[in-house]
Amino acid sequence: MLPLAAMGVLVKQDQLRRCWQCGRMKGRALVHDAWSGWIYLPVLCLCDGITCARCKEGAIHRPISNRFDEANGTVLHIPHFGYLFPCIACRRAETQQAQRGRAGPG
Ligand SMILES: [Zn+2]
Ligand SMILES: [Zn+2]
Repeated sequence: MLPLAAMGVLVKQDQLRRCWQCGRMKGRALVHDAWSGWIYLPVLCLCDGITCARCKEGAIHRPISNRFDEANGTVLHIPHFGYLFPCIACRRAETQQAQRGRAGPG
């Protein structure tokens, strides 16, 4: 069984390599699409991404592009509203704020 991705895309094999700058995988992946069959999709790393809209410092994946999800071995599509997603630093800050909130003020 091959893993099923959010976009209904299966990774058969990939030609991905790890980016030495951001540590993400990039290159191209051979995926199976219900409509197109087996196709190659370009996979971008964070270096090809855009600046985080919240902190203006971190990098997020470029909207309307593809990224490789190493945890699941699948290629995921970044939707057009992907520019709204927070970067890793912002997500981490939100988690810490939530933890502080649970602990109470002061
Ligand atoms: Zn990179
Ligand atoms: Zn950010």
